[in-house]
Amino acid sequence: MLIESPGPLPPTLHIPVHLIKEIKFAAAHQLDHHDGKCKNRHGHTYVLQVEISGPVQPVDGKPESGMVFDFGRLGRTLKRLHDLCLDHKDLGDFDPYPTAERLVLRIAYLLLLDLSPELADVGATLSSVKLFEEHTFPACSAEVRAPTLALLPAAFFPDTKLCRAADWARGRHDEPAILASLPEGGGEAAA
Ligand SMILES: [Zn+2]
Repeated sequence: MLIESPGPLPPTLHIPVHLIKEIKFAAAHQLDHHDGKCKNRHGHTYVLQVEISGPVQPVDGKPESGMVFDFGRLGRTLKRLHDLCLDHKDLGDFDPYPTAERLVLRIAYLLLLDLSPELADVGATLSSVKLFEEHTFPACSAEVRAPTLALLPAAFFPDTKLCRAADWARGRHDEPAILASLPEGGGEAAA
């Protein structure tokens, strides 16, 4: 039987594709009001999973040809978040009451501030931000999804020691003084 070749992919695909990128970070937190052992200071190896959804770009000679969004561009934002706000940090300096639920909302808000203009350029959206407290069985995670993501109110996110939203939006978290305060290796090295 003759099987017809499907031929080359068309230059423009209008089918949405979902990209997922993950980072891992180790950090400490303490939940003073918890009625169990979480009221004691302890640590987790968190996994942050970020999903971007959108149409595959046409193959037209531009750098993003054939992509939804550049993984490298997303990776640069996640690396900045990892190094400056999350890895080997006291998460009480990032959010005043760092439950997984509050952390994922704050992380999603910072990602939106940083990525929204470039996502809009290619018709893509941040569709899910999910935070696992440990990524082993039984895994616990907190997730915020579109369309709720786009409605996160700025008033919910007061500035904290490790997170000044206005500075983050202007890229000022890259200031040399802040970078100089990071541990050697930018948080990638094992403790
Ligand atoms: Zn915990």
